Amino acid sequence: MSLFGGGFGGFNAGGRPSVGAAGRKGNGLPFAGVPSDLAEGVAKLEAREPDHGDPRVSFDPVADRGGRVTLGRLVAGRPGLLLAAVLAVLVETLLLQAGPFLVQVGIDHGMAGRDVRVLVGATVAFVAAVLLTGVATAVRMRQSGRLAASATRDLRIRIFAHLQRMSLDYYTSEKAGVTMTRMTSDVEALQSLLADGFAQFGIQALTMVLVTAVLFHYNAELALITLLLIVPPLTVASLWFRRAADRGYNRQRDTIAAMFADLSESLNGARVITAHNRQDRNIVAHRDVVGAYRDANDFTGRINAVYGPGTSAIGLLGMAALLLIGGRMVLRGSLSIGELTAFVLYLNSFFQPVQQLVQLYTQYQQGRAAVGKINGLLGTAPSVRPAPGAVELPPVRGEIVLADVTFGYLPDRPVLEHVNLTIRPGETIACVGPTGAGKSTLAKLVTRLYDPTGGRILIDGHDLRDVTLESLRRQIGVVPQEPFLFAGTLRDNIAFARPGASDAEVWAAVDEVGLRDLVERSPEGLQTPLHERGQSVSSGERQLLALARAFLAEPRVVVLDEATSSLDLRSELRVEAALDRLLQGRTAILVAHRLSTAMRADRIIVVDDHGIVESGSHEELVAAGGRYARMYATWAAHGTADHAA
Ligand code: ATP
Repeated sequence: MSLFGGGFGGFNAGGRPSVGAAGRKGNGLPFAGVPSDLAEGVAKLEAREPDHGDPRVSFDPVADRGGRVTLGRLVAGRPGLLLAAVLAVLVETLLLQAGPFLVQVGIDHGMAGRDVRVLVGATVAFVAAVLLTGVATAVRMRQSGRLAASATRDLRIRIFAHLQRMSLDYYTSEKAGVTMTRMTSDVEALQSLLADGFAQFGIQALTMVLVTAVLFHYNAELALITLLLIVPPLTVASLWFRRAADRGYNRQRDTIAAMFADLSESLNGARVITAHNRQDRNIVAHRDVVGAYRDANDFTGRINAVYGPGTSAIGLLGMAALLLIGGRMVLRGSLSIGELTAFVLYLNSFFQPVQQLVQLYTQYQQGRAAVGKINGLLGTAPSVRPAPGAVELPPVRGEIVLADVTFGYLPDRPVLEHVNLTIRPGETIACVGPTGAGKSTLAKLVTRLYDPTGGRILIDGHDLRDVTLESLRRQIGVVPQEPFLFAGTLRDNIAFARPGASDAEVWAAVDEVGLRDLVERSPEGLQTPLHERGQSVSSGERQLLALARAFLAEPRVVVLDEATSSLDLRSELRVEAALDRLLQGRTAILVAHRLSTAMRADRIIVVDDHGIVESGSHEELVAAGGRYARMYATWAAHGTADHAA
């Protein structure tokens, strides 16, 4: 992250602004560079800024090309860090084995041999091994921590990029909380596995191999007896645990996702929940999902409680057997006391890894379950994607043709069937019809948020499927029913489709929709921060801001889903005036909820019974005496701008 963005001087190869040059050039003028007397301080501040580097992900609107996520690939992508971590693990493991050997030397040669120098030497070597182990551990933790942080950073960005490319149907079918879980808890499970789990796994596995070799070296017979007593029950227990843990950790991931989903819905719907006194019921519902999560945790807790102490007991029983068998060998003189002590200590360090591996297995399970879920997400292809070889849509005049279009959200429930419609360049079409008839659906098809299941939609003769999504959407401005404002400044929100727009252009858009007042009244003008989802502006202002956004994008085609919320007369007139200006000279599809809006269109289509049942100008349709005429009569009888449906 750079301190001053691009405004100050150029960027050097490392991605940081080259302040020195800018400072010299700027001569202390504001915005012309950093004043030379401040340059030193700025350079110091910059030096302290973390360099986040470039993530190894690129955005492709069609598909995620990163391949399946596997634990191996995550670590193998950073060979330098991996090598450093592996070396540290090797050194640490070897050093850890020095202890029992030095104890044996101390007992057999120092104590039994009555040689103080050996005793002191063994002790000093012991202390040195402990210190060196500390250093190796620190290096290992640092390297694997960096490895984990960098791998998961890339993964997070990759998941985010994938979410950006998903089509609308994904967001309507998948709960936001579940998606959030993939990004948070699942990635964190992986992070802790990579940061510590793998290195520990390496240490413990290597320790087991080394200890086995050492045990055989000390006394092959004793080693064989001990291992034969211990390994079979341990294997059976581990196989059982593996199966149970697989089930448990998958359940845990699913239930935590459900919990987050419920939580995020409650937070988003806080206003409605309070207004409808749903708090109690919501608590009960949340108690259920939390309960399911608790059950999943309970299950994993139970299996751990069986496996952990169970394997401990097997280990301790092994040690009891060792005391008897090894003790008899000492009595017979075929084993020294020092060797038996070392044997017991080594056996202990054979068991510690087994127990550690159990815990690591838990962590590994969580990581694997997380990888599975993440792959499920990354493997979901966006349903709306350009055909292979899609071309850039050249600047259009704005003719839109729906040719025999059929569409339904669910395969067996068509919303629109065999719809034919031609919209001339510059024509404004208003869609009216009863609630749920498919007006918004028609608008969504034209903006290619969904693809028709039958027929084609053409813009200036180009099938929407054959042009890139980006070039299509650049030329189609969408004003949704509920304009979404983002946390950011007023300017950010207006210039959403064209972040590079100049202040003059933003002000021009503000003037077009008559929001100068609002901006000037705001404490920091265009830079005034808006609250999340635009909670700090009124619903009329939100609509006007959405129109300003569309103005600034200068699209050839405007698709506008009229807001259903009623405005006071003055705001309504302002919105209508802004709308008239926006639609001038542009092809437009208005999903009209008010007949007063519909009447302004060049042509009105009535959507009902899965298709367009009437089409014509206001006068023609009234004269025809059909559904529109009846709607109009009802509306006129009420004498107000009532809902079109
Ligand atoms: P309104 O005037 O209330 O905005 P509309 O005519 O715009 O209604 P649409 O939003 O186009 O209606 O919806 C048409 C039908 O499709 C409705 O029956 C609706 O329930 C259904 N529908 C809309 N979105 C989805 C979805 N994501 N999944 C399944 N069905 C949907």
